[in-house]
Amino acid sequence: MEFRLIDRIRERTAQGREDVKLGIGDDAALVAPPAGQEIAIAIDTMVEGVHFPRGTAPADLGWKSLAVNLSDLAAMGASPAWALLALTLPSASSEGIEQFIDGFAEGFAQLAQPHRLALIGGDTTRGTLTVSVAVHGFVPPGQALARGGARSGDVVLVTGTLGDAAAGLQLLQRGARVDEGDGRAAFLIERLHRPTPRLAAGLALRGRATACIDISDGLVADLGHVCAASGLGAEIDAPLLPRSSMLLGAFDEAAARDFALSGGDDYELCFTVPAARVADVQTDLARLGCGATRIGRMVDTPGVRVRDEHGRWLEITRHGWDHFAP
Ligand code: ADP
Ligand code: MG
Repeated sequence: MEFRLIDRIRERTAQGREDVKLGIGDDAALVAPPAGQEIAIAIDTMVEGVHFPRGTAPADLGWKSLAVNLSDLAAMGASPAWALLALTLPSASSEGIEQFIDGFAEGFAQLAQPHRLALIGGDTTRGTLTVSVAVHGFVPPGQALARGGARSGDVVLVTGTLGDAAAGLQLLQRGARVDEGDGRAAFLIERLHRPTPRLAAGLALRGRATACIDISDGLVADLGHVCAASGLGAEIDAPLLPRSSMLLGAFDEAAARDFALSGGDDYELCFTVPAARVADVQTDLARLGCGATRIGRMVDTPGVRVRDEHGRWLEITRHGWDHFAP
């Protein structure tokens, strides 16, 4: 690969860390893992036209490709340290590629820098635009937040608001522009392109949440993974789902509910906490800025079930969440 390009990436993502003995530039990176910590490792790949729309700004792509990985570390209660970046770029003029790299590295660095995350290596190839990021983080032994620890009766909570990113995607697909609609479209599209990984919340949940997952595929799907891993089910109260005023201003109640239940890409945390600990956790997460809303509880009956404001069970249909046919 052209070393000029790799140099551009290295310059724009430079991050001094004592535990990086050898970063970008050799055959492999060398790091010194801290004594007494476990290493949490995750990788996520984003393919143009599948995981992000064609025409996504390079800086947004740089941010999001790291954010989705940091979100996985957050869901484990780990703190980030190092990353690898595999870039597959379509053929383009060298100015086109340099412009892409500069934008991408800028968005990546905007998120990496405040978390002191060092980019320590990667790979660069030609093909359909594809971005793979692998991250490594630290967690004290035995304190990682796994999916399988929920207990019957635990309260289910989520950080932030749900459904914004899916609403933003729908607005984009309808041809919305970020400068229309009282800033609502801008907010929702920003939530799609620039998700905030809930790293501080993940750390605060260590030793307190019994199970945790980040919401990438949608609340019901991802909470379903917690249920399966824990050998339990969950009951969700739809009226409790936290929705932003932007989402509720731009879509009707039924659409907003569907986005919150099934929309992906929010990268909020969904976690379970014993009832006695809920108030404490909510106070701490409010202090961290994201908040935590209780949306339901864990039960013995397998599967995720959703109740409406009248206590009637909803079922998922082709059009979204509807009442069970009478
Ligand atoms: P090799 O052929 O030995 O795998 P490369 O020429 O692929 O080495 O890469 C040279 C150096 O640049 C390596 O240290 C590699 O980790 C780094 N590198 C390559 N591509 C990227 C990238 N997209 N982002 C960060 N580092 C990269
Ligand atoms: Mg290589």
